[in-house]
Amino acid sequence: MANKFEEFKAAKDGLKIKEELERFASEGWEGIDEDNLHRLKWMGLFFRKITPGRFMLRLRLPNGILTSGQMRVLAEIVQSYGTDGVADVTTRQNLQLRGIRIEDVPEIFRRFKQAGLTSVQSGMDNVRNITGSPLAGIDADELIDTRGLVRKVQDMITNNGEGNPSFSNLPRKFNIAIAGCRDNSVHAEINDVAFVPAYKGGILGFNILVGGFFSAKRCAAAVPLNAWVDPRDVLPLCEAILVVYRDHGPRLNRQKARLMWLIDEWGLDKFRVEVEKQLGFPLATAAAKDEICWEKRDHIGIHPQKQTGLNFVGLHVPVGRLYADDLFDLARMADVYGSGEIRLTVEQNVIIPNIPDSRLEVFLQEPLLKRFSTEPGSLMRGLVSCTGSQFCNFALIETKSRGLEMIRELEQELYLTRPIRIHWTGCPNSCGQPQVADIGFLGTKSRKNGKVVEAVDIYMGGKVGRDAHLGECVMQSIPCDDLKPILQQLLIEHFGARVRQQAALV
Ligand code: SF4
Repeated sequence: MANKFEEFKAAKDGLKIKEELERFASEGWEGIDEDNLHRLKWMGLFFRKITPGRFMLRLRLPNGILTSGQMRVLAEIVQSYGTDGVADVTTRQNLQLRGIRIEDVPEIFRRFKQAGLTSVQSGMDNVRNITGSPLAGIDADELIDTRGLVRKVQDMITNNGEGNPSFSNLPRKFNIAIAGCRDNSVHAEINDVAFVPAYKGGILGFNILVGGFFSAKRCAAAVPLNAWVDPRDVLPLCEAILVVYRDHGPRLNRQKARLMWLIDEWGLDKFRVEVEKQLGFPLATAAAKDEICWEKRDHIGIHPQKQTGLNFVGLHVPVGRLYADDLFDLARMADVYGSGEIRLTVEQNVIIPNIPDSRLEVFLQEPLLKRFSTEPGSLMRGLVSCTGSQFCNFALIETKSRGLEMIRELEQELYLTRPIRIHWTGCPNSCGQPQVADIGFLGTKSRKNGKVVEAVDIYMGGKVGRDAHLGECVMQSIPCDDLKPILQQLLIEHFGARVRQQAALV
């Protein structure tokens, strides 16, 4: 028997909700029934019980790239909601806007269309924002420019942003990443399908990984499909895998519906054969080795591009939080100093590319850089956080403010010689990806002095970049109020941190 979500989706395709947006806008959110509130996620609109009437709007930004003009459109929307309006950079190189009123949605979508933006199919059982190398086209050591490939895959899946019923009812959500550089800057291992650069017979293409995902019940790193494709076959292969997953993926139990569960059931060989049948030609076996041979970069700071005389500057955005003025400032800075382009990273930071050498000095005087530093501290630099209880219905704990406060205090108290990646996530859905961190915190509840309190499970050992693998839970149910000294001790014991007084004496 199908689970209730399957019945709900079969009753009416989520994309049909597009036709009702004008009516919802004129009648207000209180008149929208629960099923249709869910269906709004197919348009990227998320009802938040914590802020009723104030929706979250998740965009699609292929390869995490947008123009200053697009950024200004988003800035104006966020600004129109006063203190309710914020934007968050996500761990999928994407932006989520908060504070959105349903009354404004038709006009917002008209503005999106004019600006070449879309939020379609960004929630529920759809393919999420497709990630690509944040340095595509500007990295001197780049192997494959991922921008066009990511764009084509998004356009196929979404019918050029209009919505595509062929892929609007997958068994579960689905993540695709295309890596083009040598440092696995997209976290290939945590995607349902990932393309990793690899040479075969002297041709540069991609080895394929499949089945990576996080969920409340299981986290799995992607496994090699033992397949290699020419870049020209990325699009048809994505389409073939999605058709196979759509038509054969498990739908009985939502906890066991991601692609890896189908691979478990069939085995990799059968999965590959079914994909080949759909594709219409056999896949080449994987290249013996891939080209991910660097440690992961975080892109913060000033770096020369492959284009002589130009630079990209990575700005650290604390926990990815942007306000309207920040969005306007970033758009202006991209225009004044760069080429009008802004890029986002999976570490929730911003890159402004194409800044000439001659403009760097003035750029670095910009007031915004006092908050969005090019030289953040060793702990702040690697801090990532999901939304948490401020805005998310699922959250078991507050994440962003707590994570920021703890890191600010520890940076005063400790001396570190290298960046440490600390990730916070508010519930087992793991949007903050604690499993890829050096130290990850996953929100839960615990009891302390007879009271239920916010707590975390602690993960350690996540490795990114070359030879990436997932970290494991090392401690459970630590009350958040007791966490700081434990984190301090972990940093001292495992990451060479020294208490500042001691550090001064050595
Ligand atoms: Fe919300 Fe949980 Fe995802 Fe955090 S991990 S954004 S709390 S669903």
